[in-house]
Amino acid sequence: KMELSTEKTIDWIERWVEYIKQNVTALNELDTAIGDGDHGTNLNRGTQAVKKALAEEKPQTLPLVYRTTAMALVSTIGGASGALFGTAFLTMARLSKDGETKLETLLLEANEAMKKRGKSDVGMKTLIDLWDPATKAFRDHKLTRSYIQNCVDKTKNMKASKGRSSYLRERSIGHIDPVAKSSSYLFIALLEVLEE
Ligand code: ADP
Ligand code: MG
Ligand code: MG
Repeated sequence: KMELSTEKTIDWIERWVEYIKQNVTALNELDTAIGDGDHGTNLNRGTQAVKKALAEEKPQTLPLVYRTTAMALVSTIGGASGALFGTAFLTMARLSKDGETKLETLLLEANEAMKKRGKSDVGMKTLIDLWDPATKAFRDHKLTRSYIQNCVDKTKNMKASKGRSSYLRERSIGHIDPVAKSSSYLFIALLEVLEE
């Protein structure tokens, strides 16, 4: 089934780190339109800390890889996205420590944990609008790049009802959610490592 070795999981996360680095400005621009413009900078700081922590701590098990990632993210990202990504990776750490090895289960549960943490659900113009459909499509072996891109694009016409962008009400319509975009790179990176 869909399982990733510790080595492949590190490869996956490091590819995400690289995507964020290449797209800092674009992510900041998305967040400027409907937030405070710091999402790219925040997440790049966080993911660079992840890269450093993985290199220094050299985690040898799946739960340790996920935990190292979560801790680096939450300790370096101040904004809403730090807490949410931290929740996702901590959930994956906890479940894999309990013996769950199926990647689709880890991802589905990470999505559910973020919904709880953020009191959010699909349609609120958040990262859940990427994570929820993407994790379900992954479970159903239907996740593709164009599906991921569609999920990102769909956030454009949504009205934000969580976080800073919700203060804009109707004016949040017409802009892609920055964290749906940054999350999309995680799933694109996953498709890449699975194709190898
Ligand atoms: P901040 O707004 O604190 O600067 P970021 O820029 O890092 O944080 O992230 C903003 C993003 O966080 C929003 O675009 C939205 O997708 C997401 N977000 C904010 N609040 C919530 C929530 N309660 N549930 C899910 N996602 C949220
Ligand atoms: Mg922001
Ligand atoms: Mg901020």
